[in-house]
Amino acid sequence: MYILGIETSCDETSVALLRADGEVRCNLISSQIARHQPFGGVVPEIASREHLVHLFPLLEEALRQSGASWNEVETIAVTAGPGLIGALLVGVSAAQGLSYALGIPLVAVNHLEGHLFSPFLSASGAAIPLPPRFLSIVISGGHSSIYDVVTADGRLEIEMLNRTRDDAIGETFDKVAKFVGLPYPGGPQVERLARAGKADRKRFPFPVPQFKESSVDFSFSGLKAGAIRWARQYRVGEDQAALADFCATFQDALFEQLFSRLDTIWQQIRRSAPPRPREIALAGGVAANGVLRERMQAWGRQHDVMVRLPEKRFCTDNAAMIAFAGLQRRREAGDPRLVKAYSRMLVGGPRILGETSAPLVRPS
Ligand code: AMP
Ligand code: MG
Repeated sequence: MYILGIETSCDETSVALLRADGEVRCNLISSQIARHQPFGGVVPEIASREHLVHLFPLLEEALRQSGASWNEVETIAVTAGPGLIGALLVGVSAAQGLSYALGIPLVAVNHLEGHLFSPFLSASGAAIPLPPRFLSIVISGGHSSIYDVVTADGRLEIEMLNRTRDDAIGETFDKVAKFVGLPYPGGPQVERLARAGKADRKRFPFPVPQFKESSVDFSFSGLKAGAIRWARQYRVGEDQAALADFCATFQDALFEQLFSRLDTIWQQIRRSAPPRPREIALAGGVAANGVLRERMQAWGRQHDVMVRLPEKRFCTDNAAMIAFAGLQRRREAGDPRLVKAYSRMLVGGPRILGETSAPLVRPS
């Protein structure tokens, strides 16, 4: 028996089939990057239309590759938000139709919860059991937050410990990369160039913001403004060596802020009531960054904490993580007619499914 995951919140159409133990049987992703690249960012209308074109062929292909039939699909999990509303509606409507036609329950998944659980998916075989409590760092093109997740005693409680007050970390990578003439998405480009350069915080004095009220929130807009100023002053777009050093320094400053907030949060959380977290999970598109992955592992060794890093294919948007989050929220699966798409949706916020208004009847 399988849970089917569907993800269409932004610019990746993705479909996955997972077993009840979290084993990923199939995870197909159709990326739209090439379609949006000429515009330097995601164009919502193009995204919706691309999802319409690719979703059903991907569903058929997923079943074919897994050797599964529709009869073996027990539950459907779909991203209900947050994301581009037109893009979300394509996935949600398709999931509703399938769920109703097959007479199987539908669970609405918060995309961020998908990322949050993704480091526990295995390369092969059953998923890694969720620890009773863990810290999760979700860093992507649209989000930058650290969460405290408790799963002990069958609970599923997620508390957001901080957020960004302005730009997300991936967005900062993308905007600064675009300014210095690198193609979209900028994160991997900055990482590639940074490998050839040397971080020099004297030459490029990027700020690490601190708030007066000792808040652990992130803020990346100052770094972005600084980056644009230094890039202009040193004309880094015209000089490959300067560009490499610039990228190395900029990336270093972004990660320094991340670790400064993590250190503070870790000190506070270690003093909290048991169970104490003994694992930390990194997720989201920016978690694909090799330098960050190495630094995170080193941080874990220093603090005697198990670090869970998602496989790179589970870092960017994918339906395997949506199906896996759907498994954690299985109890909430229900009538597909009650599921809605939301462009904004908080983790730990109000759930989407209410009471089932009428029995779910398979249409004849
Ligand atoms: P997502 O929002 O989860 O789809 O992830 C996309 C974001 O991750 C974009 O902002 C990318 O620039 C960023 N990203 C992807 N790979 C890397 C990388 N290697 N280093 C830094 N950022 C990255
Ligand atoms: Mg995402």
